[in-house]
Amino acid sequence: MILVDTHTHLYLEQFDEDRKAIVESAIAQGVKQMLLPNIDSHSLEDMKKLHRDFPSNCFPMIGLHPTSVKDNYEDELTLVENELRSGNYIAVGEIGIDLYWDKEHAEQQKDAFRRQLRLAKKYGLPVSIHIRDSFDMAYPIVKEESTDGLKGIFHCFTGTTSEAKQIMDIGFKMGIGGIVTFKNAGLADIVKAIPDESLVLETDAPFLTPTPFRGKRNQSAYLKYIAEKLAEIKSKSIDEIAEITTNNAKDVFPIN
Ligand SMILES: [Zn+2]
Repeated sequence: MILVDTHTHLYLEQFDEDRKAIVESAIAQGVKQMLLPNIDSHSLEDMKKLHRDFPSNCFPMIGLHPTSVKDNYEDELTLVENELRSGNYIAVGEIGIDLYWDKEHAEQQKDAFRRQLRLAKKYGLPVSIHIRDSFDMAYPIVKEESTDGLKGIFHCFTGTTSEAKQIMDIGFKMGIGGIVTFKNAGLADIVKAIPDESLVLETDAPFLTPTPFRGKRNQSAYLKYIAEKLAEIKSKSIDEIAEITTNNAKDVFPIN
């Protein structure tokens, strides 16, 4: 069984004590590829180091996270484009709009989001999109920019059936994480109705830990609990789910 964790922040300080063991444990459990979305200029060096330490397993993205869009965001975007010129990245991410943590910079978030979608097209890369309390603001921007073969993932999908349909209408896929394992989340019923080809797996480690470790630090090895839950929802074997979601991830990201 080979799984791809399409969204994991293993370079963050929560893993400073045991990062190597955490990555090796994930690989041993079949999570052969871990895709690393960037946050901002402060996270960049640690993320690059993780890629240097595991060049065939940990792949970095470059982007400015919406909650890091502040008054200095022009400087941060300049850095993003400088990094893109190096050609060392598999995607632009994570980018998007987050009105849960920050409403004050909504206009700057919209501008940074659109410009990073355009950077993705300019450099021929897919995108990893973070939206929180902002689907109605973010979706029209993605739709307008969905030209020139732009592909991507709406990461940590927790939306409605109608939102899932809109995402599929523009050929994007959805990242399914630990929330799908939570009782009463209601997400399982929505995910059940989404066609398999539109789903990829993610942990968002160290956050959003799946059952049975909910409340503890998340890690990429726990991706198998999300795969198991998806197998149950879809009445398929975990091997089938692994094969489908890994192929879907490879359809979006240049990780072959
Ligand atoms: Zn993230």
